[in-house]
Amino acid sequence: MPYDPNNVFAKILRGEIPCTKIYEDDFTLAFPDIAPQAPTHLLVIPKGSYIDYADFAAHATDAEILGFSRALGKIVEQAGITQAGYRLIANSGEHGGQEVPHFHVHLVGGHALGRMLAKE
Ligand code: 5GP
Repeated sequence: MPYDPNNVFAKILRGEIPCTKIYEDDFTLAFPDIAPQAPTHLLVIPKGSYIDYADFAAHATDAEILGFSRALGKIVEQAGITQAGYRLIANSGEHGGQEVPHFHVHLVGGHALGRMLAKE
């Protein structure tokens, strides 16, 4: 499936939909999730057009991958939750529950998050 340039995060990157920028550099943008599921809930996205993690890992340049990875680390530090702990989540596709088809990492924390996956 090709990348859909009309997805919400592509619109945010083009400035067509507003967001509160928490962090920005050449390769990365971070902003709060519009429907936070924890006291801290940020979305960290690469600026390049990648659908999910596998697409990003296969097709992004080394500079994009390194830049994004380092930026994610800085954003986690900046959020001030490293000591108490946090969770990074990257949903993909239908089974992964991905709603927006632009690769993104959720940074969640600020209270105890419980089990990684809900029990059936
Ligand atoms: P996914 O389910 O694809 O992993 O996560 C997509 C996330 O994007 C959801 O948590 C949803 O609340 C968030 N989201 C959807 N539209 C917007 C928007 O316009 N602005 C922001 N900041 N977040 C959004």
